[in-house]
Amino acid sequence: MQDCIFCKIAKHELEAEVVYENDLVIAFKDANPVTKVHILIMPKEHIKNFYELAKHPQQALIMGAVTEAAAEIADQFNISEGFRVITNNGRAGGQSVFHLHFHLIGGQELGMKLV
Ligand code: 5GP
Ligand code: ZN
Repeated sequence: MQDCIFCKIAKHELEAEVVYENDLVIAFKDANPVTKVHILIMPKEHIKNFYELAKHPQQALIMGAVTEAAAEIADQFNISEGFRVITNNGRAGGQSVFHLHFHLIGGQELGMKLV
């Protein structure tokens, strides 16, 4: 999608610190990390958010790829014992970039508080 910064990252048109990539997904360091490890995992295809993913014919394939990426990145950063995966859905849900992505955060004690 034109003017989508995450589409540009997916196509390597915009620089990012990529930590994982395959045909379906790409993962890179968040530019504004909130934790010691803060990685964004996303499908390369432009899908607006999690709600829209539910209507996508390849939903299961994409979620599988995201899950595999998250586990592999957790290993890569030695945080497989404890991390959190979050997706913000819609403006009210805290989404600011409207290309589906999952925040993988960890590298420190996160506690149990969600908001
Ligand atoms: P959201 O608020 O949509 O859930 O998350 C968007 C995330 O993308 C934020 O954590 C923000 O720091 C990150 N972000 C926004 N623009 C860029 C960028 O150009 N490069 C990278 N690496 N991260 C970005
Ligand atoms: Zn996009």
